[in-house]
Amino acid sequence: MDAFTLVVATALAALTMAAGMGLLYLASARQACLVDWMLAAACFALSSVAAAIGLQLQALPLGFIACVNAFHVAGQFGMLAGVRRHLRLAPHWGWGGLLALGALAVHALPVMQSAHLVRLAVFVPVICALDVASAWLLWRRGEGEVRASYLPLIALQLLSALQLVVRLAIVGADGASPHLMHGQLSRTWGALAMLVYLSLATMCCALIVTHQQTLALRRASLTDVLTGWLNRRALHDIATREFRRGRRTGTALFFITFDIDHFKAINDRYGHGVGDAAICHVTALSARVLRGYDALFRIGGEEFAVLVVGEKLSGVCVIAERLREVVACAPLTVDGVPVPMTVSVGVAALNAQDHKWEDILRRADEALYHAKQHGRNRVSVHGRDLAEHGHPVRLQVVGT
Ligand code: GH3
Ligand code: MG
Ligand code: MG
Repeated sequence: MDAFTLVVATALAALTMAAGMGLLYLASARQACLVDWMLAAACFALSSVAAAIGLQLQALPLGFIACVNAFHVAGQFGMLAGVRRHLRLAPHWGWGGLLALGALAVHALPVMQSAHLVRLAVFVPVICALDVASAWLLWRRGEGEVRASYLPLIALQLLSALQLVVRLAIVGADGASPHLMHGQLSRTWGALAMLVYLSLATMCCALIVTHQQTLALRRASLTDVLTGWLNRRALHDIATREFRRGRRTGTALFFITFDIDHFKAINDRYGHGVGDAAICHVTALSARVLRGYDALFRIGGEEFAVLVVGEKLSGVCVIAERLREVVACAPLTVDGVPVPMTVSVGVAALNAQDHKWEDILRRADEALYHAKQHGRNRVSVHGRDLAEHGHPVRLQVVGT
């Protein structure tokens, strides 16, 4: 395939990428990074169009070469800008514009007009720096499940930089012993590399955005909107996993359940809005005394559960008592007036007879009911679990 056909194919690939990013932007939750990547693809398309026109004029005029390089630099900057915006960093398009103008202006230097190698030696480090910067940012900022979706673009950016370095080295060696690779062959290589890059970049960028949306949907399906705590669906998944692990490894497992006392009265007296604020107040206070790695669930209107793994019963009782205390001591204030609130708390542990995690939760609920029956604002531990941990009492009240 001759260089002209390749350059036209590259322009089409760039336009396809621009259209793909634009359509995905309209079809998805309007993720702004897609606009950056669309602009990047448009710059690559302009770069290819300038190259195609220049090639039609036989000896590629310097003005066209300058446009090809400036748009290419702008395109690579656009890729970085999209990555930055995706990672919630400022895209700094202004710097991209300056860089492109600089790329255009540098062609006025006489040394740039002399040889293909010189131009390559000037632009390869710039483009490599942009490629490596996006790869590095994605690697450094991508955590957990998100990073997997970044890997293809990281690899692509690094490979793009690597092929440029190899191309520069070969063209440099050609300078020492001519005919190894003259300017025309180098340009064909460049167009071919760009064609592959654009085809893969379209898929890599789409993968990042769709994966992020999938994760966001999954998070939303597992989270309670009002409190931000996990919901019952998440409880099922996490508790099943922890129960199996507890059984297999003998790790201790506990449920702390708690329920706001006389909550209906708060709703009736202050209205549903204050009721909602009260629920958030209680969850925010409780989260303060719970350990960061305990799983927190809203399992009903004003009922909550905490899954504690790998603790001693005495430690769990201390946590439960602190939870009760913090709610009792820090009332919600409505228009400057304190609205006192308390919670009743139940605790139960995994024991040898349990077949499923629901058995522990049921006993924690029984303990909670016991706390309600015995005056509220107290912590109860299920007796069977106390017995398993060396306590003889069936249902013991701890705390006030
Ligand atoms: P107890 O001390 O026995 O727990 O009494 P209670 O009044 O707290 O218990 P009850 O179960 O009778 O009342 C719970 C109330 O919580 C009833 C329901 O209208 C209200 N509720 C449930 N979900 C929400 C919510 O999301 N927001 C608000 N504001 N109220 C809710
Ligand atoms: Mg209640
Ligand atoms: Mg309730």
